Amino acid sequence: MRIDVVSIFPEYLAALDLSLIGKARQDGLLQLKVHDLRDFTTDRHRTVDDTPYGGGAGMVMKPEPWAQALESLVATPAVGTPAVDQGNASPVVDQVSASERVETQTAPTTPAVDRASASPVSDKVSDSPVVDQVSASERVETQTAPTRVQPAAARPILIVPSPAGEVFNQALAYELATEDHLVFACGRYEGIDERVLEWAAEHFRVRPVSLGDYVLNGGEVAVLAMVEAVGRLVPGVVGNPESLVEESHSDGLLEYPVYTKPSDWRGRGIPEVLLSGNHAKIARHRRDEQLRRTAERRPDLILALDPETLDKADRATLGTLGYAITPTQVLPATPKSGVAAEATPHTP
Ligand code: SAM
Repeated sequence: MRIDVVSIFPEYLAALDLSLIGKARQDGLLQLKVHDLRDFTTDRHRTVDDTPYGGGAGMVMKPEPWAQALESLVATPAVGTPAVDQGNASPVVDQVSASERVETQTAPTTPAVDRASASPVSDKVSDSPVVDQVSASERVETQTAPTRVQPAAARPILIVPSPAGEVFNQALAYELATEDHLVFACGRYEGIDERVLEWAAEHFRVRPVSLGDYVLNGGEVAVLAMVEAVGRLVPGVVGNPESLVEESHSDGLLEYPVYTKPSDWRGRGIPEVLLSGNHAKIARHRRDEQLRRTAERRPDLILALDPETLDKADRATLGTLGYAITPTQVLPATPKSGVAAEATPHTP
């Protein structure tokens, strides 16, 4: 799988050199490159943000550096392209410089945006230095470059991390893990000029994706999480594929509690059945623990279960946890007092 990440803080993504994802990159299972958005600016201050039209707090990421960066990724050949070695780049996080980009011809189109009509600068901190109003280099920044237009289904996916996107989950991770090419566009400030997403839809399948209902300072942390969640589902990245099967969210439930040696630790034991060697009993115990833990922590997941996936024993356990199973759905029944919070007794 090819993954490109565009950010104004490429160093933030250095964690992707480590652990299983780092190894997958070394083994060639993931071709991951990090690109510095500022390499796609044309002014001497490498400006990536400007004041928002309509006023308001904060700065907005300028569209043209994004278009240049994303166009270069559509234009560059896929998997297997050797990266130019950067003196200061980490051995695995290949930061692709402007010199490595495939040059695209530009054709003059619209005149430069009239900055005078922009709203006043807010008092929010910007990462960019103060820039001259409408410099020579800025005048060419709204020029467009011709780019190959691919049929929609063949376009790479462009993931735009955003608290206003669809919420990332394991189902989406599985879906993305089947793709050949993912591009991540890390926003900063108040986000990216909305027209970039509209324009990008001509070259990518654009997906604004949220890590959850909270606001981060930038998209990099979200990208770290998404690349790790997706990357570990790419065949070969996790050594034992069995370990992916029983994990939380793989079957709509949370994982059962896990234990290791010693069996008696600070006066606390483990469920006796785990020492029995009886694999069928252990599997049943673990499934019941999944149901119990999910009912306790994420009742929304229990209500989303498909009754057709529940066997007789599942139904009995859910009954004791206060759920009724109809032919089409799982519903809350009158809960037996305290059952849902009850853990299986442990033997010390
Ligand atoms: N003004 C934006 C809003 O209210 O929707 C928030 C901008 S946030 C300060 C800056 C960047 O952080 C966003 O463009 C996005 O890339 C990233 N970000 C913040 N929260 C996120 C989340 N929950 N999931 C994914 N990305 C997030």
